[in-house]
Amino acid sequence: MSETREPTVFERISAGEIPAEMVAETERVIAFHDIAPKAPIHVVVTPRSGDHRDVVELAAADPALLAELVDVAHRVAGELADGQFRLVFNTGADAGQTVFHVHAHVLAGGLEEGSLAAG
Ligand code: 5GP
Repeated sequence: MSETREPTVFERISAGEIPAEMVAETERVIAFHDIAPKAPIHVVVTPRSGDHRDVVELAAADPALLAELVDVAHRVAGELADGQFRLVFNTGADAGQTVFHVHAHVLAGGLEEGSLAAG
């Protein structure tokens, strides 16, 4: 983590300072149930480090870590649902991003057909 900023809420979850219902953990990535689910299965997948604010920054700086996020999302959707899922990266406040620590929403399990709505 950068020494010049406060830890993000997801870094605090990664450190165990804020409780969360974990569903997957790797060396660099965590996945946990969203506190305000917008779908029957709604899991947040995020790097342990909050050094990248959004998916555009992450893709430019560390594409392997972005690929690992997608891999963890796929695994979670296979374990908690039927392996099919919607993957949403809100990018920017006007797009609904509230936590500026890159994360994917994994939405699965009885989604409304055609809906793009997400947390
Ligand atoms: P965003 O709006 O930035 O795309 O997504 C942030 C997500 O993080 C929201 O869906 C919100 O419910 C979730 N969230 C924020 N704080 C916490 C928390 O402390 N615990 C958990 N489990 N989810 C959180």
